Amino acid sequence: MDCIFCKIIKGEIPSYKIYEDEKTYAFLDIACDSFGHTLVIPKKHCQNALDCDDEYLQATITTVKKIAKHYVENCGFDGVNIFNASGESAQQTVFHLHFHIIPRKKEDGVDIWPLKEKYDLDLKDVCDKLKLN
Ligand code: AMP
Ligand code: ZN
Repeated sequence: MDCIFCKIIKGEIPSYKIYEDEKTYAFLDIACDSFGHTLVIPKKHCQNALDCDDEYLQATITTVKKIAKHYVENCGFDGVNIFNASGESAQQTVFHLHFHIIPRKKEDGVDIWPLKEKYDLDLKDVCDKLKLN
């Protein structure tokens, strides 16, 4: 399988490793769009959050929390944004599950939240269509 993140796990492609354990691997995103932009991935290939087995998904999110706490407690950040894109329509571009961590500081000037527009929504209608019974 030609997966760039599987190659990173195997060391076939270089990466700036932040942390790893038995089931997960964390490394710097090469985008360089903010200081410390980090990706956390499971060591077992899956496309995204929708097909990842629960054991690896849980391990991955546990590592996300561990690194987020490290950034806030030891690296001088005040908070983090945590993002995941699952699926092409969600703007996923690399099809090996990954969570983005963007470390944040007050007044860092980073504006990460992608949704700006407000829609005239009937929230009861939205809820009726989306609720999981
Ligand atoms: P997404 O759009 O959520 O699928 O994010 C994919 C991310 O992978 C992007 O932010 C890319 O900058 C990042 N990326 C792609 N190739 C590499 C690589 N070789 N090392 C580190 N990050 C990468
Ligand atoms: Zn992979």
